[in-house]
Amino acid sequence: MSSLQKKTDVILIGAGIMSATLGALLKELAPQWEIKVFEKLAKAGEESSNEWNNAGTGHAALCELNYTSEKSDGSIDISKAISINEQFQLSKQFWSYLVKSNLISNPQDFIMPLPHMSLVMGENNVTFLKKRFKALSNNPLFQGMEFSDDTEKLKEWIPLIMEGRTSNEPIAATKIDSGTDVNFGALTRMLFDHLKTKNVEINYKHSVADIKRTSDGSWKVKVNDLDSGKVEYHTAKFVFIGGGGGSLPLLQKTGIPESKHIGGFPVSGLFLVCNNPEVAALHHGKVYGKAKVGAPPMSVPHLDTRYIDNKKTLLFGPFAGFSPKFLKTGSNLDLIGSVKPNNLFTMLAAGVKEMALTKYLIQQVMLSNEKRMEELREFIPNAKSEDWDVVVAGQRVQVIKDTETGGKGTLQFGTEVITADDGSIAALLGASPGASTAVHVMLEVLEKCFPQHIKEWEMKIKDMIPSYGISLQDNPDLFEEISNTAAQALGLSEKEVAYS
Ligand SMILES: Cc1cc2nc3c(=O)[nH]c(=O)nc-3n(C[C@H](O)[C@H](O)[C@H](O)COP(=O)(O)OP(=O)(O)OC[C@H]3O[C@@H](n4cnc5c(N)ncnc54)[C@H](O)[C@@H]3O)c2cc1C
Repeated sequence: MSSLQKKTDVILIGAGIMSATLGALLKELAPQWEIKVFEKLAKAGEESSNEWNNAGTGHAALCELNYTSEKSDGSIDISKAISINEQFQLSKQFWSYLVKSNLISNPQDFIMPLPHMSLVMGENNVTFLKKRFKALSNNPLFQGMEFSDDTEKLKEWIPLIMEGRTSNEPIAATKIDSGTDVNFGALTRMLFDHLKTKNVEINYKHSVADIKRTSDGSWKVKVNDLDSGKVEYHTAKFVFIGGGGGSLPLLQKTGIPESKHIGGFPVSGLFLVCNNPEVAALHHGKVYGKAKVGAPPMSVPHLDTRYIDNKKTLLFGPFAGFSPKFLKTGSNLDLIGSVKPNNLFTMLAAGVKEMALTKYLIQQVMLSNEKRMEELREFIPNAKSEDWDVVVAGQRVQVIKDTETGGKGTLQFGTEVITADDGSIAALLGASPGASTAVHVMLEVLEKCFPQHIKEWEMKIKDMIPSYGISLQDNPDLFEEISNTAAQALGLSEKEVAYS
């Protein structure tokens, strides 16, 4: 083993959508900065960002019922839906900028227009959906949403789901055509190809083993070259820990006070994928149902048209489950290894609080394929087992921390950006809403870590992302303008593109 020491401005750990997005933003804002990437796998976008490891929903709260909760007075709280929609608009603007500037091309390879629908059954749920529709349809961000509880209309919208349905239970859906299917794996690879042309040094099969602060306030990163077995040491003024599920253990190694009293709870996932093109051709859209009582929000069942490898297919799920690994390619010791003296009580408190969730996840792991098919048949009554295969999805590591409202060991379902107080290091934890909001989250990293540069960068950021710092729901004209630009640049107005 030999040891090498190298200096750079920025180190990005992990080659997922988050590092890709941060790298692409930095190359536009500070092109002269030297950036290095270390990824332990052989390619970019192989973990959660991979197209088969996530559901590919461009989360804009158009169909996800868990972003609109019912308040105690029966009214619907749409504030979270608005915030997530606004965040997705930032992503669409940045992607449009990259395409228009010829920094990436062929947007149809990573984003496709696709109706987003919510589907509910039972009287109470239909009442809820109607109220949700009324609350959202007054908002410019959700214009074009339709509601129907007419089975003839639903047969037009979702023929595969309506065929063979015998129940007389009330059923209703909303539909909005401005939804998208996003191939985050393809986008990640495109962004890394682009970064390569900007002289970013991308080191695959390089696993980061340790991160320590140096006497001048920089960070020394210990990297194992997995091919040669050599150990390298690289120093940087700024480090982004974009290791997905692998971020928590790396953050803990930094020893920064902000890394203490935080834990992670891994949730695994499975999808059913349709192997029969004739069945796949009968469905067009992302149809989100309602989470079952006791189920965590990330396991809301949905039936999605997906565009992957130049083919139109269907994915159903995800079925959540429990695995102690923090990454799909991780180790069974990940969870236990993340328990440290400083987060022991936080983790124990979460363990006690989340017994029901753990039990639910273990039950989900035990489901037989036929039981999974039964859940699918709630969506597609005539689904045949031979038309569906199981694929293992990515791992989601939910953050556990002590909060004022939830107390010790509270499980979080969102994303958390953790930064050192001097902004020299940042880590991204959590996985929801996820890749869709990568641009919003990475802008947050820039604001927190580079306050001294944000003023000088602002004009360029607004050039790339016109709605930066502006509420789109309060500026419907700007919303229309950016929607039109995105539709043109990303090809979102074209209906069915040449996919079979
Ligand atoms: C089942 C499921 C469904 C989802 N559905 C959606 C969806 O529909 N829409 C949506 O927007 N989001 C969705 N998400 C979330 C989304 O996939 C993630 O938020 C996003 O991909 C995370 O990107 P990332 O770059 O942080 O992590 P990743 O893509 O996981 O990348 C992290 C990278 O870091 C590398 N790494 C880790 N540790 C080290 C180390 N020590 N040294 C070097 N490299 C390291 C890993 O190998 C990996 O390549 C879903 C996630 C799951 C699991």
